[in-house]
Amino acid sequence: MRPSPHVSVRIDLDRVRANAKSIRQRAGVELIAVVKADAYGLGIVPVARAIAAQVDEFCVFSLSEAVDAELAKCNKPIMVLHPDANLTASDLVAQRARPAVWDAARAAALREARPILCVDTGMQRFACPADQVDAALKAGGCEEAFTHAARLGQVDQFLSLVGNRGLRLHVAGSSLLHEPLARLDAVRPGLALYRGAVRVATRLLEVRQTTGPVGYSGFAASWHGVIPAGYFNGLRPGPCQINDRISRIVEVGMQSAYVECGANDRAGDEVVLLGDVITKAEIALAWESSQQEVLVRLCAVGKREYVGE
Ligand SMILES: *Cc1c(COP(=O)(O)O)cnc(C)c1O
Repeated sequence: MRPSPHVSVRIDLDRVRANAKSIRQRAGVELIAVVKADAYGLGIVPVARAIAAQVDEFCVFSLSEAVDAELAKCNKPIMVLHPDANLTASDLVAQRARPAVWDAARAAALREARPILCVDTGMQRFACPADQVDAALKAGGCEEAFTHAARLGQVDQFLSLVGNRGLRLHVAGSSLLHEPLARLDAVRPGLALYRGAVRVATRLLEVRQTTGPVGYSGFAASWHGVIPAGYFNGLRPGPCQINDRISRIVEVGMQSAYVECGANDRAGDEVVLLGDVITKAEIALAWESSQQEVLVRLCAVGKREYVGE
């Protein structure tokens, strides 16, 4: 899939920075900014530079993401969620990176890189089962532990396994940020950093009054328009906004898509695919998917441009 040259993806770095600042203020604890997956599609290099002063630490999936983005230049510690099996402690230390680990053998092997134990509270992936927590903490000389959780009950479970031992502890991603009980020593959001920071828009190529079933699927509408992005660009059917009206992407083709129009819409009018009115939450409902997927996918539909510093 490739970005459509006819779709603009506008990324507001001031907004990302303001989000980071307010998350940190409201949480009242350290902020570990999750910038994995190219900062959820917004671009890890500009995003990391924009928020470096507001965050205490960065978090990526693999070390190569940090190396490619020269994240070490931001002078913040880096947490690596999934260190490749062939990485050594010195590879990590050279990047100021600390690895997540979930078994005693790996914790011991990466001990010099001050590993962080990922405790399983239900995710059942990249995480240490309850009965191996003590051995893994000891093997790695761990001073820190976290869990990846979506529900408050998992916080209790986590605390009963690793609480009251003087470890630095964190749980809350975006979905638990509003829960004071989930804040512990740090919060670890991704999605919430990027809230309201991306606007994706294109323009109508043509508008027609329909004369019977339209397109491949033969959908019905009184007026329809065509936009210059399709599934080659990662687009899917769902809501959109045309001239301050909520409309729909009805059928997606290879490099174009049909949208529902009205009699007053014209070729050249703007179609907003993600913005203040067409939110990630609404699109996620239509796609039966997560807001995270909506963000990474729509950021890749067009050409990224940055506003703010
Ligand atoms: C991706 C991820 C996060 C951030 O999740 P959001 O829901 O986007 O805030 C936090 N912790 C871990 C372990 C993750 O993999």
